[in-house]
Amino acid sequence: MNCPFCGYQDSKVIDSRDVNDGVRRRRQCLSCSSRFTTYERLQPIGLFVIKKDQRREEFSKDKVLTGIRKACEKRPLPTGTVDKLADDIEAELYRQGRAEIPSAAIGDMVMEGLKSLDYIAYIRFASVYRDFTDITVLKREIDTLVSDETEVSRPTSQLPLLPAEELETVAKRRQRSRR
Ligand SMILES: [Zn+2]
Repeated sequence: MNCPFCGYQDSKVIDSRDVNDGVRRRRQCLSCSSRFTTYERLQPIGLFVIKKDQRREEFSKDKVLTGIRKACEKRPLPTGTVDKLADDIEAELYRQGRAEIPSAAIGDMVMEGLKSLDYIAYIRFASVYRDFTDITVLKREIDTLVSDETEVSRPTSQLPLLPAEELETVAKRRQRSRR
């Protein structure tokens, strides 16, 4: 950093302190002894999303959040759940330290997250994102969820996809068919 007074390129740091998002340094020019201040900030690593048509777009957590919100509309999820999922996904993406990521990979992360939160939100998101043009594919996905639910004990935060009595019927039918 050249001295703003004489243009000399060397200075010494006489004071350094942390400010909100960086470091503020008080410097003294080694030639004319003038004092000036510099700020040092971390350059955020740019993350670009590769879209289906191969165009690049800067990653936006807001976009992820909007998608999740839409899927979770009117679902009785605890406050902050949606934001936390978006935060977690963003943190994970930055943790991976990649420069680019296909939009499909982000979609998969959202689906994984929703699957563990709320099946209805998951199906909603999947039906838009995966483009379930074929109803049988959608049905297969729901069947998988229902069978997961009857066989694996679901997380306590998960809301039942089917009313309890219906679940029992499904489970009984399954047992019967196994015999
Ligand atoms: Zn100077």
